[in-house]
Amino acid sequence: MTEALAAARTPHEVFDVVLAPALEALDAVAGAVLLVNAVDGRLEIAATRGDEEGAQTVWQEGPLDAAVPAGDALARREALYFEHAGDLKRAYPDLEARTGGVAAVATAVLPMRLDGSPMGALILDFREPHLFTGEERRFLRTLAAQCAIALGRAQLSRDLEARVAARTAELEGERAALDAFVAYKEAVGGESDLLTLAQQALQVVRANLEHVSAAYYERDGELWKARVWSADIPPEIALQITAGIPVNAPNYAEATQSGQPVFVDGWDAEANSVQGAESYGAAAFLPLVVRGETRSLFSVGTRAARAWTERERALVRAVARGLTVTLERTEQARHLAEQNAALAGRTRALEGFADLTRDLTLHDEPYTLIQRAQEVVLSLLPDGYALYFEPQGDRWVKRAQTGEMGTEALQAVADAGLPYHEAGNLLTPYTTLAPYYQDQYAQDTDNIGDLVAHLGASATFPVMVNGQPRGVFAVVLFGKLRPWSGPERAVMETVMRSLELALERAESVNLLAQRTRELEQTNTELARSNAELEQFAYVASHDLQAPIRAVTSFAGLMAQRYGSLLDARGQRYLRQIVDGGEHMKRLVDDLLSFSRLHTQPRELVPVHTQTVFDAVVERLRGEVETLGATVSGGALPVIRADAPQLDQLFQNLISNGLKYRREGVAPRVQVWAEREDTGWRFAVRDNGIGIESHYLERIFVIFQRLHGRDEYEGTGIGLAVCKKIVERHGGRLWVESTPGQGSTFFFTLPGA
Ligand code: ADP
Repeated sequence: MTEALAAARTPHEVFDVVLAPALEALDAVAGAVLLVNAVDGRLEIAATRGDEEGAQTVWQEGPLDAAVPAGDALARREALYFEHAGDLKRAYPDLEARTGGVAAVATAVLPMRLDGSPMGALILDFREPHLFTGEERRFLRTLAAQCAIALGRAQLSRDLEARVAARTAELEGERAALDAFVAYKEAVGGESDLLTLAQQALQVVRANLEHVSAAYYERDGELWKARVWSADIPPEIALQITAGIPVNAPNYAEATQSGQPVFVDGWDAEANSVQGAESYGAAAFLPLVVRGETRSLFSVGTRAARAWTERERALVRAVARGLTVTLERTEQARHLAEQNAALAGRTRALEGFADLTRDLTLHDEPYTLIQRAQEVVLSLLPDGYALYFEPQGDRWVKRAQTGEMGTEALQAVADAGLPYHEAGNLLTPYTTLAPYYQDQYAQDTDNIGDLVAHLGASATFPVMVNGQPRGVFAVVLFGKLRPWSGPERAVMETVMRSLELALERAESVNLLAQRTRELEQTNTELARSNAELEQFAYVASHDLQAPIRAVTSFAGLMAQRYGSLLDARGQRYLRQIVDGGEHMKRLVDDLLSFSRLHTQPRELVPVHTQTVFDAVVERLRGEVETLGATVSGGALPVIRADAPQLDQLFQNLISNGLKYRREGVAPRVQVWAEREDTGWRFAVRDNGIGIESHYLERIFVIFQRLHGRDEYEGTGIGLAVCKKIVERHGGRLWVESTPGQGSTFFFTLPGA
């Protein structure tokens, strides 16, 4: 049994080794081991043998006192033997009542002590009365002692195992911390949300360093406010650090100013304005420095020590470094976001310009244009208003406004207009011809006192039209301390330039419209007077016909009847009267046909020009024969024309060709036509006197003649009529000529 006990490692093995052989050796019916609980000092049943399952014995869990046999034996430091039925009950009268069990006939209670301390008791029950011999008693005492030793050893090894387990758990904890640190390191690489990362940093610190509290602070004005903190921090302290620690608290300030980690052994909580944090023996403050500036603080504190070990410092430093890296990255991300916002702003500005440019081309009214520019500028800026003033006499008069000015008093001043020399914000740009920016609208600028107190930045621009200042465009923002940014200035100046261009354009459009209106008016007047003149010419020439006919016919009669009665001079006078009368008749006839061209509507029909030509030649046949002339023409086309006018055109040109003939040269007139584009080009060529080149245009003007009537009879109306006819048909008439050789008159007419 001693060997078996030496091999037993656990209490259960000990019980197995002890109880079963003891029962067998002494023929006991049951056995039990009661042990004293080290924590509460009560007796517990550690093992039983032999009892039927669920049997109610007097061996129960309970207080360790002398009222129970085990406690009694331990207290007396001796084994108790109850050999006969009733002995146990007699010794402990209330035992059965107390335990609800039934006492055995005979019982041995063997106390177990170890190193002087009570350990428990070994109990054997017998069904029969049992006389414990001296040898049995020795055996049982030895058994109990050995059991105690074995149990003590088992307990020791259990403690050792527990310690091994604890150490293992500890090691596992450290590995978990290490894992957390690795995860943290990875998070530093990927996590951009600073608070999430700060939370992880706290966990790493706490997983690695026992009894450490940690917090992450951000600056808020004159306070460091904890944004993330470890859960172990007592609520009253958490409340203080979240509300904010003054930035001048010594340790906080030192870390902030030096930019270096501050490790404080033997921390003075009170000096750092953290009440109730005296339990922290050591604290550390690690500034997170980005671009030379302390942005955040990472702090740790421990209640388990009053000093930091080198390992602790290293770990905390590493964690803080990770946070700094993230902070830098966050900063970069924010910088990028700001750039994006600026870019978006510029895109918006460009879109605004697109709108502006489009809108500006739709309007010609200057104040509408200015209003539109005001709207665009304001849409690109924070809250504010825009005004436009023009100088008038000794005052600035408001011509356009967009947005409310904020106060009724200020509005009233603007509505009333400002004295020319006292409104600096208007006078300056107007006289310097340059934009005038104020990051803060100074109260003395326009001499309107604190009416501008609610205003922030102001910008005023001269509005130049065709190089001259026209007025001043003012933009004013509400709120303080907001300087004009470079992009804002660029935006406003560009809008100004667009506005100026639009104003100049509107100006010329308006001017053009006015000129056009004037021209149209002149045209109508001209057309009316033309019509009147034409009407007059027609009426005049028509009414002149009768009296002229009277003069010439009576002069003719007089020559016939009384010519013989007149002397030579009288007859010459009479001839002149007849000549003059005939010329006047031709003049009036020609004038009539000229004015008819204007008054009578033309009728365009397909006309066979060959037929017209033939008719004209037939009419002139007498004259042609008299002169010995030739008039030829052939293969003339069909065109759309007014036939009578075409007849007149041919007649005038052909007879001119016969009239302006050269001395001693038989006149020859040729007429032909050639296809040209969609119509025809006709030519009437003669071999007459020709025309000096500088008269080639003048001959088509009415009444313009190159010769006296004594040389060549004529009225100077014929070619003017021709020109008019051709033009009325949509064609052109011109002449080419070589003086002394002949002339060719060309005209174009549309095809059929
Ligand atoms: P009129 O023949 O009645 O003078 P026209 O208008 O027909 O008036 O002609 C104007 C002037 O052009 C003529 O006076 C003449 O000097 C010149 N002229 C016209 N036709 C010819 C021609 N075929 N050759 C030379 N000169 C011509």
